[in-house]
Amino acid sequence: MSTGFADWNLEKPIADAIVKLGWKKPTEIQIEAIPIARRGTDVVGQAKTGSGKTAAFGIPIIEKCESNGIPQAIILCPTRELAVQVSEEISLLQGEKGLAIQTVYGGTDLEKQAARLAKGADIIVGTPGRVIDMTKRGHLNLKQIAFFCLDEADRMLDMGFFPDILWVFENMPNRKQTLLFSATFPQEIIDAADEFMSEAVHVMSDDLEVDIPEIELNAIRIGRANKLWVLGRIIANMDENGQMLVFSNTKRMVDVLVERLSKFRMKSVGLHGDIPQNKRERILNNFKEGKERILIATDVAARGIDVDGITVVVNYDLPDDTESFVHRIGRTGRMGRSGEAWSFVSKEDRGALEKIASTWNLTIPYVEVPALPKGMDRDPVRKRDDWDEVSDSFGMVRVNLSIGKAESTKRALSDWIISQAKIQEIVLGEITQDEKSSQVEIHVQKVAYVMDVIKARDYNGRKLKPVIVDA
Ligand code: AMP
Repeated sequence: MSTGFADWNLEKPIADAIVKLGWKKPTEIQIEAIPIARRGTDVVGQAKTGSGKTAAFGIPIIEKCESNGIPQAIILCPTRELAVQVSEEISLLQGEKGLAIQTVYGGTDLEKQAARLAKGADIIVGTPGRVIDMTKRGHLNLKQIAFFCLDEADRMLDMGFFPDILWVFENMPNRKQTLLFSATFPQEIIDAADEFMSEAVHVMSDDLEVDIPEIELNAIRIGRANKLWVLGRIIANMDENGQMLVFSNTKRMVDVLVERLSKFRMKSVGLHGDIPQNKRERILNNFKEGKERILIATDVAARGIDVDGITVVVNYDLPDDTESFVHRIGRTGRMGRSGEAWSFVSKEDRGALEKIASTWNLTIPYVEVPALPKGMDRDPVRKRDDWDEVSDSFGMVRVNLSIGKAESTKRALSDWIISQAKIQEIVLGEITQDEKSSQVEIHVQKVAYVMDVIKARDYNGRKLKPVIVDA
């Protein structure tokens, strides 16, 4: 028989809250982690966002805290957005228990936060920098904290929070239990876990494999110049009720994309670390409520975004590290729903995609650019020539001509092209031939022009129909 929430005899407010939330049964990570955490044992949990991990640590923490206004538990998160989300979920889960849950994160008015803390807090959810700041200023007292939880620990390490986490850790003399959750387990996390915990129970698969959500993974070979064209196609094909999250690697590119899409009459909003905190929250809320369909974001800003409606994730740029890929695609296909993820892969990115696929044992097939949906006859964004994407490392582009070796020698063909286009011999590279066609290498700087000339002229009274051959 499978475990149900009723088997655990949870505190009444929590049990009632779960009923109210409509949760039918615990998720896998909850089944694994909750009983162990309730016993007071340290837990290292492997769980991605969307797996129900917040409740996996939230339920035991809520049970162990009482409403006395003194912080007894602290949950550290890598971003403000995630801190807000975690505290919202914990507030829901505690139901009528009456614990004071306070968020402590940077980018907002420090005095207001201090005033809220002064009214009493039982559970703190925060980002490391601000937690330290508030503690040093005397607004936050870590002395009575017994429960310490690190959410998305891998990302916190990525973001260089380790010294901060260590500081918080060392300033909790009465810590009794530590819970650490992470989607991936690079060596640094394993080391950190050793540092923070004693005899922790690891709730994860033996081979540290990541639990990849059920989503359709696709890659498209496309150069920078035409990524927007492909994005336009994917947007055109998006389900009416769907929502899309597009990842770009830089803040600047997020802004550029929003602007460009709007030029092509596609509305989107951008989210990155330079946007003021209150505005970021507003953007996220609008997105959550479905008022916006397309969100363009950097990794940091999108961390932990919990929006059930996301049906499509697009890696406009491939992430710089393999772990981010898993975090990104985990934004869709949440709680078992289906989703799709598209990765745009330029020539230089092909190795990176292979590395991602082999690290996580994923199959990410290259597919054709999706066709325009029925009833739409024009692309939202026009396709452009992208010669760099089809040239080889010597800058040569291979062009197919519809003439076989029986009809022309290589020499005759190259002499004709050179004389018609009035180019230097060096513009042409090798020529190969078979029965029906010839392939000519043409330098990337001249290829567009030379192809136009070939198209416009007749060779012994016939057209040669030049077509680019993919690199
Ligand atoms: P998380 O992985 O904590 O970000 O949770 C992902 C989403 O699943 C959140 O919206 C939760 O409210 C929801 N959730 C968590 N546990 C359950 C459950 N046992 N049944 C249904 N929904 C859940």
